[in-house]
Amino acid sequence: MFENFETDAIRIQTPRTAQNEHSTPLFMTSSFIFEDAEHARAIFAEEVQGNMYSRFSNPNTTELMDKLARMEKTEDGVPFASGMAAVFNSMFALLKSGDHILASRSIFGSTHSVLTQIFPRFNISHTYADIGNIEEWEAGVKPNTKIVFIETPSNPALDIIDLSWISAFCKAHNLILIVDNCFCTPYIQRPAEWGADLVVHSGTKFLDGQGRVIAGAVLGRKDLIKEIRFIARATGPSLSPMNAWIISKSLETLAIRMEKHSENALKLAEFLEKHDEIELVKYPFLPSHPQYVLAKKQMKLGGGIVTLVVKGGLERGRKFLDALKWFSLTANLGDSRTTVTHPASTTHAKLSEDERLAVGIKPGLIRISVGLEHIDDIIEEVSQALANSK
Ligand SMILES: *Cc1c(COP(=O)(O)O)cnc(C)c1O
Repeated sequence: MFENFETDAIRIQTPRTAQNEHSTPLFMTSSFIFEDAEHARAIFAEEVQGNMYSRFSNPNTTELMDKLARMEKTEDGVPFASGMAAVFNSMFALLKSGDHILASRSIFGSTHSVLTQIFPRFNISHTYADIGNIEEWEAGVKPNTKIVFIETPSNPALDIIDLSWISAFCKAHNLILIVDNCFCTPYIQRPAEWGADLVVHSGTKFLDGQGRVIAGAVLGRKDLIKEIRFIARATGPSLSPMNAWIISKSLETLAIRMEKHSENALKLAEFLEKHDEIELVKYPFLPSHPQYVLAKKQMKLGGGIVTLVVKGGLERGRKFLDALKWFSLTANLGDSRTTVTHPASTTHAKLSEDERLAVGIKPGLIRISVGLEHIDDIIEEVSQALANSK
């Protein structure tokens, strides 16, 4: 354990084996050997710590959790096979029939499905509140509310919640605060330092950062993690050693990648803001962002995501996408390659137009996850697509 984020991200490592390897090996094994009958008994009884079966733990997933928990400044963590398994279990493991969740209205599409279509089957209800509307949050608390679930910045509108305010609000009402920190990563924002109880991640995005694997994690308070780990071990949404190994390696470069993503994104946002074919551009570290001051307070950098609306509405937005020559049209984000999506027709197509507008998704809104290519090439690509889509 070190004082500095970058050193922890590189040096937290599974103890070396007898082979004296430098880099952590991949432990592709479903189970582990007991020394003798007594050791087997003691491990099953949880009297001693140790690996027994990779649904429960594996050196690669343990290394990843030790690292991520440290990077998020939290006590402990549970690995998951995907970000959605992490999101679902962070709530499911702590709730029972009759409980209620208060969530920010603009949340990830599949998280919306969990709240609106899956939890109601178990008599777990929810209320949405607008990020900036304090009365809605106050009015949303019921006697049976247990959890507050938020994303900041939101996807794709990039609205920001004041983490210190929402933490104080949750403490005052005795609620568990869960923050999806996917867009920022712990290099840019650490919700637990502002008082969040749990932080959830999709490792699929910036943590891997190269568009290769699906993974997730829940980090946070030891007592809550204990409950979540119990459910995860018994029900089996386990992260594979292979995917944990890949992400743990990726974390070694997280700091420099997030620096570069943010630098490129800010330059692109500044270019777009001056372009007369653009109706709107939103980026947390542009002074024109409505919550610029708040973004500067709780985020170290602006992150890799820029949203824009091209003049000419939905049709023009589609023409713009078709005029792109090499940006990837894909559902993923947080890749070293610049990726682009049109939320209204893809990730948020299941919402009604009114629901979309309520979370800041205009018909022509385009989300760009700015990659690590040279900024001159990124700007040239956008610039030619704007010129060729009139
Ligand atoms: C992608 C994403 C998820 C889900 O993660 P998966 O790894 O795809 O399951 C959850 N929250 C946010 C904000 C995301 O962007």
